[in-house]
Amino acid sequence: MEEKQVKRRRIVLVPVPAQGHVTPIMQLGKALHLKGFSIIVVQTQYNRVSSSKDFSDFHFLTIPGSLTDSDLKNLGALPFMLKLNQVCEASFKHCLSQLLQEQGDDDIACVIYDEYMYFSQSAAMEFQLPSTALSATAFVCRSVLSKVNAESFLIDMKDPETQDKVFPGLDPLRYKDLPTSAFGPLESILKLYSNAVNIRTASAVIINSASCLESSSLAWLQRELQVPVYPLGPLHIAASAPSSLIEEDRSCIEWLDKQKPSSVLYISLGSLALMQIKDMLEMAWGLSNSNQPFLWVIRPGSVAGSEWRESLPEEFNKLVSERGYIVKWAPQMEGLSHPAVGGFWSHCGWNSTLESIGEGVPMICRPFTGDQRVNARYLESVWRSGVQLEGELDKGTVESSVKRLTVDEEGADMRKRAIDLKEKLEASVRSGGSSSSSLEDFVNSLKMKNF
Ligand code: UDP
Repeated sequence: MEEKQVKRRRIVLVPVPAQGHVTPIMQLGKALHLKGFSIIVVQTQYNRVSSSKDFSDFHFLTIPGSLTDSDLKNLGALPFMLKLNQVCEASFKHCLSQLLQEQGDDDIACVIYDEYMYFSQSAAMEFQLPSTALSATAFVCRSVLSKVNAESFLIDMKDPETQDKVFPGLDPLRYKDLPTSAFGPLESILKLYSNAVNIRTASAVIINSASCLESSSLAWLQRELQVPVYPLGPLHIAASAPSSLIEEDRSCIEWLDKQKPSSVLYISLGSLALMQIKDMLEMAWGLSNSNQPFLWVIRPGSVAGSEWRESLPEEFNKLVSERGYIVKWAPQMEGLSHPAVGGFWSHCGWNSTLESIGEGVPMICRPFTGDQRVNARYLESVWRSGVQLEGELDKGTVESSVKRLTVDEEGADMRKRAIDLKEKLEASVRSGGSSSSSLEDFVNSLKMKNF
């Protein structure tokens, strides 16, 4: 007997075209696809995810006339995001109306857009419109910052004494931990936040986190936002969906296979961080003096003024051949879950933070910008599974923190706490766990058109 094809309702996803934002939204797409929805990914012309075998059932659309790679180079990241939102609004509207006109009795259940792609909201007012945020605490910070008096806040931020004070209401975050330096001047950042924190129009907020990690920030959001908040992460555990925009060098996994258990420090600063040559050299000599094996991801273009690793001295390169390995881009999840990895030196992007905690790996936190400082502060003083490197980087501090993490008792304690968190996170995405129930609630509300 011929089986009747059941039409799936469609969900439109609008990711920010950057690795750290593409990764969780594609995982969310995978989770929702498993729940019976059909997924349409609407992308800009810059940094597109390709339709790999992992997403063979997804439909990909490109917004015509959106910005490109050279626009990003010419404008810089923050003006790029502001302009992207201006130029995409009309074409996204057109794109949605075409989707609606398509034949078929399946309909669009909702548009889920990254909070920085806020152009989506005005274009899709007629649909239910959840937005996605990454961490709850960073979302709280952006909400708070979107309402500060910009003038007096600017004065506070310039005062060195204020920097170490706890920001009222955001304990343990200090002024210097706030996400205020994201590739541009503070005024533009505050503007982006007030545009992005569109809590009055999004009909729900999805957070890639779990209540065992950020309960007080989630409670804040649930209290302050007038819409449902769904903490349904970590999405990389709930629904793995490889979506690397850069080619992964898998040879490092073979190298890890030859190392002793928990001995290797994995170092990666994510997809955007830019480091100074001086800091790279201090890191290199600190690693050298620590006597620990290391796997170092040096992304081409991630060191100011260098193509790749050419600034590393010959003597250090000799050491690399003895007890180190350098790649341009690694399969990070596979690396973190490898038994040889005992610690992670990270810039503390939210995905890297979740991935590390999710594998029970303690961290050396060296944040650069945006919400990375928020995450680093939480790793060190709330979850206590990381040690933060603050101030000028020098080889002595690098050496001692690598030893603290990989050799000392302190590192073993951090590892125990990280493993404890890993277990809690795994439990939260299992059937009946808080994140799994939150995903169920979200799906049910879509089915019942309950927004
Ligand atoms: N990543 C990777 N290979 C690498 C470095 C990073 O696959 O060599 C992935 C990592 O697993 C994470 C993402 O890139 O999912 C980076 O996101 P994150 O939020 O940590 O930082 P961002 O790139 O946004 O600064």
